[in-house]
Amino acid sequence: MLGNLREKLSKTRSAFKQRLDALVKSGKPREEILDDLAEALILADVGVATTEKIIDSLRVRTRKTDGFPEIREALKADLVERLSRGTAAASTVDAPPAAKPAVWLIVGVNGGGKTTTIAKLARRFRDEGRSVGLAAADTFRAAAQEQLAVWGERLGLDVIKGRYGGDPASVAFDAVQHALRKGLDLVLVDTAGRVHTNANLMLELEKITRILGRELPGAPHEILLILDATIGQNALVQAREFLKVSGITGLVLTKLDGTAKGGIVVAIADELGLPIKFIGTGEGAEDLIDFSPAAFVDALFE
Ligand code: GDP
Repeated sequence: MLGNLREKLSKTRSAFKQRLDALVKSGKPREEILDDLAEALILADVGVATTEKIIDSLRVRTRKTDGFPEIREALKADLVERLSRGTAAASTVDAPPAAKPAVWLIVGVNGGGKTTTIAKLARRFRDEGRSVGLAAADTFRAAAQEQLAVWGERLGLDVIKGRYGGDPASVAFDAVQHALRKGLDLVLVDTAGRVHTNANLMLELEKITRILGRELPGAPHEILLILDATIGQNALVQAREFLKVSGITGLVLTKLDGTAKGGIVVAIADELGLPIKFIGTGEGAEDLIDFSPAAFVDALFE
């Protein structure tokens, strides 16, 4: 598992680790080491604001030492703390009986990896013996409904679709009705990819949320925002816009396999204080990993 994660994060890891390795033998004084670390963090897309906080904290933590190993350990501890900021609530489909089915709403901009992540989640919970249904509430793009239908067929799952151009909230409504009838454990609701600046589309998310809650008290139980890690700091900008409206309960960072900007995960956890629940590490249905701060940091350093 750690080996796998390390391999998946290799682009971020190799850029970051090279710089760290160069420092091991440098014998530089502490302030110079901290300057070099700041540069390495910024290059990994941790961002200026979070990097400054990290370096300030290291300066305090390592007051009494110039030793690189101690500074590196302090950095690891600091990163784990920051990455743990929002992770109090564990992800689970175990809901009280009244909340069966659990309903998860999946939101994010087009191309970020929503549909793929839904397939990954569905496969994972199906393999754990849960019954899962998919709701294709992206009624704006016929292709999006098709894509979800293909995954549903491949995974052997019910897919509830709506009319092209129809009301997404009514698809969500139908999906809950279907799940109640069939006693499903989990419904994953795909939504239209929205430009985060489009106010109407954002309002529509609120409508879907409202309808779900009316049909099933407590639903949606999770609203997961899918963020593409390859866009680096822009993911933070996107997330802030979504947070204004939609009651996000957790984040999924996708495409960490394809980027050297993995440090964005640290910036996001630190600045948004929301739990990162899963990370996407490939295009296949199996390429989803439960996010663990310690495992993530280990994979970057070891
Ligand atoms: P959506 O528009 O948000 O539903 O995005 P899609 O699920 O269609 O994904 C857009 C593209 O990103 C597709 O080509 C996916 O195969 C790809 N993709 C999604 N998640 C990952 C990931 O974790 N790693 C990689 N390498 N590609 C991904």
